[in-house]
Amino acid sequence: MTQKIIPYGRQEITNEDIQVVIESLKSDFLTQGPTILEFESKFADYVGSKYAVAVSNGTAALHLCALALNVNENSNIITTPITFVASANCVKYCNGNVWFADIDPVTYTLDVSKVEALIESKPKGFFNGIIPVDFAGFAVDLEAFKNLANKHGLWIIEDACHAPGGFFINSKNQQEFCGNGKYAELSIFSFHPVKHIACGEGGMITTNDISLYQKLLLLRTHGITKDASAIIEHHGGWYYEMQELGYNYRLTDFQAALGISQLKRADKGLERRREIAGIYKNSFKDKKYILSQSGDVLGHAYHLYIIQVENRKGLYDYLRLNNIFCQVHYIPVHTMPYYKAQGYKKESMPISEKYYEHCLSLPMFPTLTSEEQNFVIKTIDEFYQN
Ligand SMILES: *Cc1c(COP(=O)(O)O)cnc(C)c1O
Repeated sequence: MTQKIIPYGRQEITNEDIQVVIESLKSDFLTQGPTILEFESKFADYVGSKYAVAVSNGTAALHLCALALNVNENSNIITTPITFVASANCVKYCNGNVWFADIDPVTYTLDVSKVEALIESKPKGFFNGIIPVDFAGFAVDLEAFKNLANKHGLWIIEDACHAPGGFFINSKNQQEFCGNGKYAELSIFSFHPVKHIACGEGGMITTNDISLYQKLLLLRTHGITKDASAIIEHHGGWYYEMQELGYNYRLTDFQAALGISQLKRADKGLERRREIAGIYKNSFKDKKYILSQSGDVLGHAYHLYIIQVENRKGLYDYLRLNNIFCQVHYIPVHTMPYYKAQGYKKESMPISEKYYEHCLSLPMFPTLTSEEQNFVIKTIDEFYQN
């Protein structure tokens, strides 16, 4: 019996999602219409930020953030090697310099003490910013990063692509939601189908800073404004000004309509992800072949469920033969040919590199059935019994 492929991540599209997209296609605006504003406002409410800017994808969101914070050839920015390449590439788009600091072996996220050591190894004022990533859905302790950033005059871009709805607990024992704008200057999200909220392609930037917000709006649409209070000359009703070198990084209204519809179910999806994580956690807790697994952490958004095992390649191939398509997140960014060619050395981030040798992301998405999850667990067990 061949069984259906079980991917590591997958979107859910309901009949209601389809209906709202159809309605949107029949409306007056395919793009630059009111649905964008509605999505932005609902998303800002969801994460608890003052402002949100919808963009064409998560990578565009990172690029606009780097531009808005004036990253240039003199900038030095720190990020984690265990992330999608876009978290680092946004710095390169603006000709800045990327620095990597190693991860914490338990949370798999950027280790704040490693970042501090890196900052202190350079002259005062050398670094400009930090890009922590809420990797796999684990919300990083942004309060700790903010304290460090304040001490050294740095900004923070939080890459929260994995963690809408995730939170960490601050020193006052309060829940601080990813992207709420309290600790990071800017936070970004992606609406790629494997992420929590699917628009096809899509992204969002959240902030509490009105001047960054206004700058992002300008940069999203060619640096062009028609705002009467902002334009310098006034030629007539047709008149607009291009005041900065911007891009076309807009989201369409029908994508925003899908995003709004998906956002309504976001908490339900998160609940289901946490339930799936609990089952994995329990099933693997006494297994000798598990070197480590995703933590049982309050506020974890579980974009991914990660195990670390011996003979990862053997397990990956065996699961694949059984139509279980796991994935590895991530190949350390500094070991990519592009970064290696720029002088980044393999074996410079020992914890990240060791993590990469053993990690595997298991199927994790709200519509994963109990039968499917049991089959995944059983097949892993089978591999190590043989
Ligand atoms: C998905 C992702 C991105 C990029 O988002 P896109 O919408 O695919 O451009 C950036 N950072 C992280 C951590 C991601 O997972």
